[in-house]
Amino acid sequence: MAKGSWQQRIQRAEELTSQRPFVAEILGFYVQLARFQEGLYQRLENASQSKTEIALQGRVSGPPELRELVSSFGVFLSVVEASGPARLAEMARDLRHRGDEAWSNCLDTCWSGTQTSPAAPQEFLGRAFLQPYAEFVRSRIVMQWNGYTYSLCPFCNRKPGLGILRQMKDSARRSLMCSFCAAEWEFRRIVCAGCGEEDNRKLPVYVAAEFDYVRVECCDTCRQYIKTVDLTKNGLAEPVVDEIASAPLDLWAQEHGYSKLELNVVGM
Ligand SMILES: [Zn+2]
Ligand SMILES: [Zn+2]
Repeated sequence: MAKGSWQQRIQRAEELTSQRPFVAEILGFYVQLARFQEGLYQRLENASQSKTEIALQGRVSGPPELRELVSSFGVFLSVVEASGPARLAEMARDLRHRGDEAWSNCLDTCWSGTQTSPAAPQEFLGRAFLQPYAEFVRSRIVMQWNGYTYSLCPFCNRKPGLGILRQMKDSARRSLMCSFCAAEWEFRRIVCAGCGEEDNRKLPVYVAAEFDYVRVECCDTCRQYIKTVDLTKNGLAEPVVDEIASAPLDLWAQEHGYSKLELNVVGM
């Protein structure tokens, strides 16, 4: 993702913070995270422009650039400690005190995608930190995914974190966005991204008046849900940010017995 896109996300989050006091705290945390992520992305880009090889070998303990990433993890943990919700802040403090080796292990596990499902809170920290790196690596690879029909990310094989509806010719098409590397790929509208259910009677969609452009797409077969940001209804929305800003819908879905297919970058 280009630098401008991080700025757009941050700007949108700041805008929504003033409009929606009930999610101001979580959006404030997101802004801090996104600023850190933008900085990390920028450093990776600069390093690649100065011809430093950023090789990805599946292990963060390998090349020097990745070791450098590990050292930035401490700074990231301090950011979460200072601005994250109490539970995450405590976890970040804990992990920060455990030092380099624990950090390497955490990042290794997260990068290789071998974490438990649902991810443990500590793994969430590693994932949020590595997310811009994943985005950076993906952006440098030319991907061909015409005809790809699966719900897992074609690049990193992780679950989608949200859906996006865009106007295409005369219909709105849904795509899914990876929760980790931010890849976006087209996915049929009436199919559960969790279990593949296609019977629309088992796929209820809920929309609340306060967020009429965010659809809670549920599945009564696997009892999971994903939120889809409808850009045909609100062209100002930044999907990643608006997904976070509609956090009350997550509470609603969970109260109704649905669990989220994949948590977002602020762990909700
Ligand atoms: Zn991915
Ligand atoms: Zn399902």
